[in-house]
Amino acid sequence: MGNHNNHSNPTPPILLTIAGFDPSCGAGTAADLKTFAAHGCYGVAAITSLTVQNTQGVETVHNTPSAELRAQLEVLVNDCEIAAVKIGMLGNRGNAVVIGEFLDAHKFAHVVHDPVMRSSSGAELLDAGGIKYVVTELLKRASVITPNVAEAEVLTGMTIKDVAGMEAAARKIVEMGARAVIVKGGHMERAVDVLFDGEIITQLGGDKVKADNNHGTGCTFASAITALLAAGRTLAEAAMLAKAYVTKAIEKGYAIGKGRIPLDHFYRLRTEPPARGIHEVPQHGMHPAAEPTAH
Ligand code: PLP
Repeated sequence: MGNHNNHSNPTPPILLTIAGFDPSCGAGTAADLKTFAAHGCYGVAAITSLTVQNTQGVETVHNTPSAELRAQLEVLVNDCEIAAVKIGMLGNRGNAVVIGEFLDAHKFAHVVHDPVMRSSSGAELLDAGGIKYVVTELLKRASVITPNVAEAEVLTGMTIKDVAGMEAAARKIVEMGARAVIVKGGHMERAVDVLFDGEIITQLGGDKVKADNNHGTGCTFASAITALLAAGRTLAEAAMLAKAYVTKAIEKGYAIGKGRIPLDHFYRLRTEPPARGIHEVPQHGMHPAAEPTAH
């Protein structure tokens, strides 16, 4: 097939998410793609798992056959130049291995891994063999890994009670081979995240936000970091800006169903409606719909 695009529009960074699909679109690939778009990037997606879920929780999980996941990744990487990769829910060991091989075959500039293990409603999103593969193999293939406290406990075998415990776990995860780690403390008493890049520990302070607005926050945080790294930010800058973005998107979230409230990924686009009687004047005195189409 030829390239039929005659335009010379510049292409923004193309980011790849490898994650599960949440049909209510609060978490997983849908949250990732919205986050990429909100940061001016184009997102492509390979689906590791098709979940059955709504805002009230995950009912069942259907993992993508590994050969199918491999094929999805290959057609994308053979076609597009991927600036950065975000990894989320893996489902099982078979899919985790496919991703490990994919990362080895293509040296991506940035790989952000959110090691999702379980949904808040309790569903298993990664099997035991998959967790083992993350610990022994995938961890060291990421630029940064972003576990929450519960996931950091599983990765390290440690019990984490406070910020000091988060710091100890962050150091251990780097010892285990990660290049950098952010242990997310959003569920703790103080919503502090701990970033360790192998040299310095940085505490990212944050405001505690409403507990029922947290669906998709992990996916969104990792995706925002991916976009910001692709835009040339340092990891520390990316982490801080991503945290600010997630916090604001949580604050602006609105209910779409009977359960948890997703984030508003596009809060930056929402402006106050103009005062009564004031209308936007089209730029060339022309109704936007009457704009001649470019050829
Ligand atoms: N579904 C998918 C596809 C996910 O990737 C995730 C989390 O990353 C979840 C569900 C779980 O989200 P939550 O912990 O907010 O229920």
